[in-house]
Amino acid sequence: MTAPTAAYDLAIVGAGIIGLGHALAAARWGLKIIVIDRDAQANGASIRNFGFITVTGQAAGDMWRRARRARDVWDEIVGPAGIPVVHRGTAILARSDEALAVAREFAGGEMGEGCQVLPPSALDEKMPVARRDGVRGFLWSPHELRVEPRTAVPAVATWLEAVHGVTFLRGAAVTEVAPPRVETSRGPVRANKVVVCPGPDLVTLFPETIAKYRPTLCKLHMLRLAPQGPGWTLGASMMMDLSFGRYLGFDGCPSVAALRARIARLEPETLANGIHLIVVQSADGSLVVGDSHHYAPTPDPFAPDAVDQLILRHAKETLDLADDRIVERWTGIYPSSANDVPAFFDTPLPDVRVAMVTSGAGMSTGFALAEEVIADLYA
Ligand SMILES: Cc1cc2nc3c(=O)[nH]c(=O)nc-3n(C[C@H](O)[C@H](O)[C@H](O)COP(=O)(O)OP(=O)(O)OC[C@H]3O[C@@H](n4cnc5c(N)ncnc54)[C@H](O)[C@@H]3O)c2cc1C
Repeated sequence: MTAPTAAYDLAIVGAGIIGLGHALAAARWGLKIIVIDRDAQANGASIRNFGFITVTGQAAGDMWRRARRARDVWDEIVGPAGIPVVHRGTAILARSDEALAVAREFAGGEMGEGCQVLPPSALDEKMPVARRDGVRGFLWSPHELRVEPRTAVPAVATWLEAVHGVTFLRGAAVTEVAPPRVETSRGPVRANKVVVCPGPDLVTLFPETIAKYRPTLCKLHMLRLAPQGPGWTLGASMMMDLSFGRYLGFDGCPSVAALRARIARLEPETLANGIHLIVVQSADGSLVVGDSHHYAPTPDPFAPDAVDQLILRHAKETLDLADDRIVERWTGIYPSSANDVPAFFDTPLPDVRVAMVTSGAGMSTGFALAEEVIADLYA
């Protein structure tokens, strides 16, 4: 089969959530769009993540603004695209006085709008399956939603194709972009403008542009625990002290330094493996639990069990698990900027943009970044 030869207004390279976000934003501009991906179906970070659309915890400024806008876009499309929202909201448990201080400082600031610090007794309502021992209180955020990424991302693509007339060319590697010509391994495509959303492929297209942001790659371990049985409901996404320490959104809280010092003192191995705890639930009652962070230009393919056991230990200390069997493991990779640039878009050629989330927050912010890129290309 050869590539479609019809001319398009816009070609998008990459059918991960960032590419799909651009297709959605461009469809809203009424453009004729083709999305090209080398894989037969979505296979990258976009289906390997938690499906956790996170607002609270995003870095102040652009990322927090984008997360709120992207969350609204998710809310707009889940119904039409037939994507179930598995749960809403986040409980970040404070298991130390230092974490509780961070929670209070955050809730009192601008980014804490809508959030509350609640006592342990409120877990009876918000998260009855959380362990009470050691919990000083928790930050409750109503802003988040969770979708099942391995079905939600294909559903977004199917909906874009069926309802917005977006063409998908899969199994085609893009080797050169020079509008109106886009060279693919399945023949040329004609498009007036192009957005390149290559995820962790830092070297095939416009490597000099991408290199300005000094990205490396980050490998994450992910676990699925067995269905927890009838009546065991998480009800919201769950995090704890480690996330108050890790997420840049809490950087402005004066007590975060003391919390980080405590974590460094008590949990050096956890810190060395870049572990913080996120737990979300799937419709079958199983839990997605993660994650770790290991950085390298080419991450190795190995996933040592010791890292998984550390993640599992934190989950067992935090939740009253009904079944702690690991039933599935996988790793995922995303680009991460050594310059601490959380996301960027750039202009290697006048009618071309390269767009990348370089901080592991693409599900949460990608739709908003895409709107900015399309506005920049067509304004
Ligand atoms: C384990 C894990 C957990 C995460 N959890 C969360 C979370 O809960 N919330 C959140 O907001 N973010 C999370 N993230 C981050 C988020 O998943 C990513 O930021 C996002 O998926 C990146 O999307 P993408 O489209 O850029 O990349 P990808 O999903 O990797 O897609 C890139 C696509 O581009 C294609 N491609 C690249 N180059 C070419 C080429 N030359 N020709 C053709 N095709 C090409 C690839 O085949 C691929 O399909 C997580 C990431 C991981 C790995």
